[in-house]
Amino acid sequence: MTDPEFDDSAIEAGRLLFAQTCDFVIGAAALDQVPPTDLPEIAFAGRSNVGKSSLVNALTGRTTLARTSRSPGRTQQLNFFDLGGRLILADLPGYGFARAPKEQVKAWTELVRAYFRGRAPLRRVLLLVDARHGLKASDRETMALMDEAAVSYQAVLTKADKVKPSALDACLATCVDDLARRPAAHPHVLATSSRTGTGIAELRATLAALAEPAAR
Ligand code: GDP
Repeated sequence: MTDPEFDDSAIEAGRLLFAQTCDFVIGAAALDQVPPTDLPEIAFAGRSNVGKSSLVNALTGRTTLARTSRSPGRTQQLNFFDLGGRLILADLPGYGFARAPKEQVKAWTELVRAYFRGRAPLRRVLLLVDARHGLKASDRETMALMDEAAVSYQAVLTKADKVKPSALDACLATCVDDLARRPAAHPHVLATSSRTGTGIAELRATLAALAEPAAR
């Protein structure tokens, strides 16, 4: 069944938005380094290795964008990109390393909590979830931070190509169910694959609906 949210014009709006140039703006290790903006902003959050860089690259059609902004030892920074002067994309540091030192987890939580609470242009956080694993305890901790800051968020499954359709449906259903009980969560969960392109046009359309309208 066709999702009414994604009619042809919505898909086209997403394609046009992501055909614009996407430029790295800054990597910020503290909220006071985050540049002010009048544009709407969307953030990408997820466990390390969830496929966040791959998804940002698949959306923007660039193979090096998210990775080049990521230098070793500087994992705890928020990376900002300007998409065609219409939308800011913010790449949040990954979380959930099993062996991460306590101080690192604390620093991550403080940085991200400050960002969620203090970033007025933030319209939505995309919470990336590996379709093979579903929501983990660390995702729930991040969801609690967003609920507490009243930041709207939407779950996006990654690596959909890695699971059978039945497992994907089950993961989607569990996520939808779980998110229905969360005050700040968007009810719609998208399944994507950076490898096959599944869901990428739909995610672009979702983001285009939140972006500054195109100049006429
Ligand atoms: P990040 O740490 O969240 O930025 O994750 P990466 O984008 O670096 O991806 C982590 C690993 O998952 C890499 O080996 C990617 O090649 C792989 N990966 C990412 N997205 C997909 C996908 O959609 N399908 C498959 N099969 N593998 C993916």
